[in-house]
Amino acid sequence: MIGGGLSGSEAAWQVAHRGVPVVLHEMRPVRSTPVHKTAEFAELVCSNSFRSDDALGSAIGLLHAEMRRLGSLVMRAADDHKLPAGGALAVDRDGFSAAITAILESELLIEIRREEILEPAAEWDSVIVATGPLTSPGLADAIQRLTGEAALAFFDAIAPIVHRDSIDFNIAWFQSRYDKAGPGGSGADYINCPLTQEQYYAFVDVLLAGDKIAFRDFEKDTPYFDGCLPVEVMAERGRETLRHGPMKPFGLTDAHRPGAKPYAVVQLRQDNKLGTLFNMVGFQTKLKHAEQVRIFRTIPGLAQAEFARLGGLHRNTFLNSPKILDETLRLKSNPRLRFAGQITGCEGYVESAAIGLLAGRAAAAERLGERPSMPPPTTAHGALIGHITGGHIETIDSGARSFQPMNVNFGLFPPLGSRTARGAQKPALCARALADLDAWIGATVSDAAE
Ligand SMILES: Cc1cc2nc3c(=O)[nH]c(=O)nc-3n(C[C@H](O)[C@H](O)[C@H](O)COP(=O)(O)OP(=O)(O)OC[C@H]3O[C@@H](n4cnc5c(N)ncnc54)[C@H](O)[C@@H]3O)c2cc1C
Repeated sequence: MIGGGLSGSEAAWQVAHRGVPVVLHEMRPVRSTPVHKTAEFAELVCSNSFRSDDALGSAIGLLHAEMRRLGSLVMRAADDHKLPAGGALAVDRDGFSAAITAILESELLIEIRREEILEPAAEWDSVIVATGPLTSPGLADAIQRLTGEAALAFFDAIAPIVHRDSIDFNIAWFQSRYDKAGPGGSGADYINCPLTQEQYYAFVDVLLAGDKIAFRDFEKDTPYFDGCLPVEVMAERGRETLRHGPMKPFGLTDAHRPGAKPYAVVQLRQDNKLGTLFNMVGFQTKLKHAEQVRIFRTIPGLAQAEFARLGGLHRNTFLNSPKILDETLRLKSNPRLRFAGQITGCEGYVESAAIGLLAGRAAAAERLGERPSMPPPTTAHGALIGHITGGHIETIDSGARSFQPMNVNFGLFPPLGSRTARGAQKPALCARALADLDAWIGATVSDAAE
């Protein structure tokens, strides 16, 4: 186990819990990252919130509930150290990390080594790499060599992702530029939102005036990658720049008003295989989150937009997982290596711990001669695994790779088969998830017993 953060701590616990010995290598305090401050396992580097704990109304609350059912160490410590925070699960960060450290240190099957790993030793035959968004540079180089140069990214350049069912199709329409089908496309693969000249200039003005987030000190030297300039930086280069870049209107005809040529168009591209989520093409941004909601809802067709995630640009380290990892998180080209946590392309403390939980269970099952299995895609765990190892669709354009880290959200779940009223959908998705998780737990227990 390399890395004792949220994911590595949970994974090590899950492996030991199945009776399999594990060596946990953590570089702190010998060497730290630019954001960690202690030598404790599972340190929370920023907020102390695990977000909503509502298991019947929020995807993250559902993930909490599933993790509790799967015997999660991180959730046990969070529940033992929770603080009053309304419907959210907030924790006393020191008590939380100290509890996890004490449990891992007292577990006889876990051997802790405080050292930086620069490369997984050739004789290690079952390794979980969980070194997180700030993986040390030496190990990042080794991972890059082992996975192929294009497989590791060092910057999130994220455009907002919108729930398709919140887009107004009285204004927007489906069409690919010049109706080109492209490989795997239909000729109508993008959702288009048209702007008149007046609307376009008004949009550029609010974009320029919007409140932005500054880079942190350790991020300042990281250059923009893949030509991923923030949309507001493009707007600063001239009032017409955007309509010759991501907002160009050429090759598109407004399906609702074929005679009126839009002056600019915002395009959204399908982001998951289910077709429930669409990303705003070229709209990576450093605007503050509330500003993004306010400003992007001024785009015609997006007035009621619900965002599965908002845009951002920050230092991260993550794999092109849908391409290079198998369904149990092993590197296809070198299956002795398994990855867990934020480096796989999930985002957030809880999601990272959840992926650690699954990686730990899978590694232990393999060691015990069992067939590792993952929870069904209707569960929050399965939905996250789907995003990481298969649910995302590659961009139909050439250019920058499109896989980006994501928090758990209902857009990653297969839609309900029946016609369920809008207000009843989230509870129904959660109830289905918990029932399917219980059935899966039952099946894995009887598999292991055979
Ligand atoms: C600045 C910043 C702020 C964030 N704020 C939030 C937030 O408010 N809420 C939220 O949910 N998420 C936040 N995140 C994301 C958060 O980091 C992850 O959600 C979570 O910590 C990831 O868990 P992990 O186990 O993958 O990585 P980490 O928790 O970072 O753990 C990785 C561990 O690996 C160790 N390590 C690294 N390289 C090596 C090596 N070569 N050898 C041995 N050990 C190594 C590190 O010391 C660390 O302990 C933030 C991230 C950053 C960078």
